Amino acid sequence: MRLSHHPLLLELCHPFRLATGVRTHTNVTLTRIELGPFSGDGEAAMPPYYGETHASSALFLDQATRILENTGDEFLRLDSANRSRWIADLMRKVDDIAPGNNAAKASVDIALHNLWSSVEGKPLHILLGIDPRKMPPTSFTLGMDTPEILRQKLTEATGFEIIKIKLGSDDDRAIIRTVREYSDLPIYADANQGWRDRGQALELVHWLAEQGVKLIEQPFHKDDLVSSAWLTERSPLPVFADESFQRLADLDWVAYSFHGVNVKLMKCTGISEALRIVEAARKKGLKLMTGCMTETSCGILAAAAIAPLFDYADLDGCWLVNNNPYPVPLLENGKVILR
Ligand code: MG
Repeated sequence: MRLSHHPLLLELCHPFRLATGVRTHTNVTLTRIELGPFSGDGEAAMPPYYGETHASSALFLDQATRILENTGDEFLRLDSANRSRWIADLMRKVDDIAPGNNAAKASVDIALHNLWSSVEGKPLHILLGIDPRKMPPTSFTLGMDTPEILRQKLTEATGFEIIKIKLGSDDDRAIIRTVREYSDLPIYADANQGWRDRGQALELVHWLAEQGVKLIEQPFHKDDLVSSAWLTERSPLPVFADESFQRLADLDWVAYSFHGVNVKLMKCTGISEALRIVEAARKKGLKLMTGCMTETSCGILAAAAIAPLFDYADLDGCWLVNNNPYPVPLLENGKVILR
């Protein structure tokens, strides 16, 4: 197998305002694994807060290249049923190269899965035995903005049937009221660690529930699990961990503080580990959401292939950028179509 990679600066359609700051670009590294006439594309999407860069991903992927060398014949000799396990085993070796580098690892995992799809000539969700009829609708994310820009963004959300709003400012009620002037779609609210006071947060969550908000993401600082547990115990809406939850090993300590976890391929090193998270989280009675970074369609479609295993989906990253090099997925009833 031959792994190649190149950097891309993904431009956001609108500057993205969160409780943590404003962003106009995201660093992405695109990967490709080739094996004879077959190939699979992957992607590492690297928002600044997780610390990965074009340079760090290039360094990591050059090391991963050596692990992939001379593995092609073995992969081709396997039965279809054993290829998923083989990829998961190979990803354990890739994971051992260095700690962190989660998005770079995900780019290898996604490319391996797409290579598998290329070898078999079948869509990934079929190979993984996933039922596309169970696809949850995906939300379309709005950053914090002025009423005029929010209104414009809502007109761009064609085809989506759920809105995700970034909260965590002093104007949370005003933002929701503005959205409600233009849209009565259900809302997912993401506080992005922006709330400070438990009592005020609980009051706000009750108000949000009355406004048609369906779930809350990451209310408090990622390390403040005590406040999250306090709110989770009292909240009329399900509370999800995002920044507090990265990988499988984190499940044990977030399971008691949230109703559910937001699983992103770029946080958890890809599809192989995401599938293990789904299994373990279900055993703990946790709700599951799958999310994304600002990504190309490559990362979004990889997450979409396993999204039918989740209760909620927020896979809109490729609709928020100007220079996605791949075709945008099609939507039906607000759901990504798998094919
Ligand atoms: Mg989030």
